[in-house]
Amino acid sequence: MTPFNNLISHSAERQTMIEEALVKVSRSGIFLFGPELETFENEYARFIGTSYALGCGSGLDAIWLMLRAAIENGHLSPGDEVLVPANTYIATIMGIMQAGLTPVLVEPDYETCQISAREAEKAISQKTRAIMLVHLYGICSWSDAIGDLVKHHGLIVFEDNAQAHGCMTADGRLTGSLGLAAAHSFYPTKNLGALGDGGAVTTDDPGIAEVVAALRNYGSSKKNLFRFQGRNSRLDELQAAVLRVKLSFLNADNKRRIFLAKRYFEKIDPTKTTYPTQPHAGGNVFHIFPIFSNQRDLIARRLLINGVQTMVHYPIPPHRQPCLSQFSHLSLPVTDRLHSHELSLPIWPDLDPFIVDKIAHIINL
Ligand SMILES: *Cc1c(COP(=O)(O)O)cnc(C)c1O
Repeated sequence: MTPFNNLISHSAERQTMIEEALVKVSRSGIFLFGPELETFENEYARFIGTSYALGCGSGLDAIWLMLRAAIENGHLSPGDEVLVPANTYIATIMGIMQAGLTPVLVEPDYETCQISAREAEKAISQKTRAIMLVHLYGICSWSDAIGDLVKHHGLIVFEDNAQAHGCMTADGRLTGSLGLAAAHSFYPTKNLGALGDGGAVTTDDPGIAEVVAALRNYGSSKKNLFRFQGRNSRLDELQAAVLRVKLSFLNADNKRRIFLAKRYFEKIDPTKTTYPTQPHAGGNVFHIFPIFSNQRDLIARRLLINGVQTMVHYPIPPHRQPCLSQFSHLSLPVTDRLHSHELSLPIWPDLDPFIVDKIAHIINL
């Protein structure tokens, strides 16, 4: 059986490094807000290319933290509208709403699966202050058209970089460094994944960094003094130590994902399925390898009979979820179409290329 994903460590060397990191922390007696977190934050900020990175409990928390910090710093006011792609993972929208802001669901382009600059422009109102870019599937969603839109309307840019660690714009900047602040998830399946939950906010803005640091710690920036109603959202020393090891392999892992994706492109009969339009080099780190077909369920069944597990990202779009019923009246045909046609094929750094060939062969039947 080929599973959809395999999170067991890819090499004995890496597994040993992770275990050594865990043992080191367990013997240190420091489990929260210690040297591993501080070092990871410095290394991750340097990797992304921002002045600050702040660890927190999850990707959802990171979205909430950066948006609350933007409000506390006067960049946004409660109730302001934030443009967000309608086909994102639902956590993006939850984070916006939990921060007291109003998400405006915008159709993606069917070809790129990323937010449509044209549709975003149509959705702008008096109350629109920001855009949340989601680099969905690992694809860079920054484009010249988005750049023009942001400039023309004076929009604040936030990023949900949960699926795109190491992804690059055409001019060589990393996603997570493009706007006022960015949210990152280290959920185990992400390109940079912990051995449990974790997240981070990256930013160049000292005011945002300061408030995020307080909000993740009950709103306290000074011991026993509580400036905000915060949360308990910490990245613990064990996860930070593991993430430091994993970060050192991230570029190599992403290269493997790109290699495997190229193999899929070469081996799958182009008449059988379509893919998102591929961006510039380095603009896709293949968190997910999606194919699109109106025969999606048939292909998935055939793969399963032949021992290959697949997944759908995602079967039900956010505007059709019970908890977002206020959006159920929206007509979002592109989003609906993407959700009904999408199928994710196995792709992880250590996946055997011959299994890619086998999967392509089954699709081509
Ligand atoms: C995974 C993910 C999140 C949420 O991250 P968690 O760490 O699971 O809270 C948010 N947005 C997107 C696009 C994601 O893929």
